[in-house]
Amino acid sequence: MSNIYTASSGEIKRIQWLQLEKQLLYLQKNSGFYRKLFKKNEIDPDKINSYIEFQKIPITTKENVQEFNQDFLCVPESEIIDFVTTSGTLGKPVSFALNETDLQRLATNEMESFKMIGIKKEDVVQITTTLDRRFMAGMAYFLGLRKLGAGIVRTGSGFPQLQWDSIARFKPKYLVAVPSFLLKMIEYSELNNIDCNNSSVKAVICIGEPIRDLEFKLNSLGSKISKLWDIELFSTYASTEMATAFTECEAHRGNHAQPELIFTEILDEAGNPVKPGETGELVITTLQVETMPLLRFATGDMVSYTDEPCPCGRNTLRLSPVLGRKKQMIKFKGTSLYPQHIIEVLNNFKGIPAFVIEVNTNDVGTDAVVVKIPDSLSAEKVSLLKEHFKSKLQVTPTLEQVSLKIIEKLKSPEGSRKPLVFIDYR
Ligand SMILES: [Zn+2]
Repeated sequence: MSNIYTASSGEIKRIQWLQLEKQLLYLQKNSGFYRKLFKKNEIDPDKINSYIEFQKIPITTKENVQEFNQDFLCVPESEIIDFVTTSGTLGKPVSFALNETDLQRLATNEMESFKMIGIKKEDVVQITTTLDRRFMAGMAYFLGLRKLGAGIVRTGSGFPQLQWDSIARFKPKYLVAVPSFLLKMIEYSELNNIDCNNSSVKAVICIGEPIRDLEFKLNSLGSKISKLWDIELFSTYASTEMATAFTECEAHRGNHAQPELIFTEILDEAGNPVKPGETGELVITTLQVETMPLLRFATGDMVSYTDEPCPCGRNTLRLSPVLGRKKQMIKFKGTSLYPQHIIEVLNNFKGIPAFVIEVNTNDVGTDAVVVKIPDSLSAEKVSLLKEHFKSKLQVTPTLEQVSLKIIEKLKSPEGSRKPLVFIDYR
């Protein structure tokens, strides 16, 4: 365990602040975008020595990074080694780049993330996610495991048969996977007489979809998986912009931050830090990044946090699962909801094989929520689901029954890296 994790929270803040000051000076020297921003707002990065001063720096938005993409570049183009794009969940994908230092930093970041889970040099890990397609995460997993010295099996995404064949051949103890893909692997194992509980796999690092609820208990997707396959599930949360992973430890009480690599703020609508347990937008400043560092970047992800010491002995801040995107906030019949609230209700209700949530603006300018569920469900089941919604959220979205085929098609639009269950038409 790296020392910073178990240091006192005061010491963690002190070490982090030193990195932050260094990054501010680096941006002043090398970033066209931030130099202009400092000048325009009469900010002298040299004089920022408290959070109150730091808070005066305007927020950087996704649109800023999109519009002034090249201005964020802090190194000559000849220094760039890896070109990537963001996943583009909202809007067009944005270009990012990494130089040698950034690739080393990314490797360290992911190594620390794997260590958090308990992965050791002697372990074998199968990466069942995309390594190519301009995707930073897949490469980060590879680099992190390589730095750790662990064994790596690069199966890539999809192909349950290849996954099971590789498990039989190379006996990985861990998988890196999108949780819903684990269900596909379980389904394949059942059809092909593979006893998944007798395999070498003991734990999975889950990306892309939450597996825990706000109380850190396995959510319905998580429990569905673990009921069928006796494996330990760890969540990890990251993005291209953050270039840093937040990962669960063996206590499974939220995703630990890596304070020497990222400065995190969780802010309310007015831009003030929220209290532990309250929901706010995650705003990050990358530390030790050279090519495209971001300062007070609004991720759009709504989370809550805790700063209490973790049973694992680490004192770093821990994030809750992401409740949804800031822009995805749904004003519905007088309630504010995030997609995860609706997804949880549907997942907790037994017997719905698939669903898609669609949000539209209706004629009176408020949000309309339609949940598409399979037409195979009986009228009785649908009315039970309505009651279930009422009891969990106090409101009931419109339920529309369509064929399973239509739902599956909506869930996997062309070019999407992960299945969609929430579609926003607003
Ligand atoms: Zn912990």
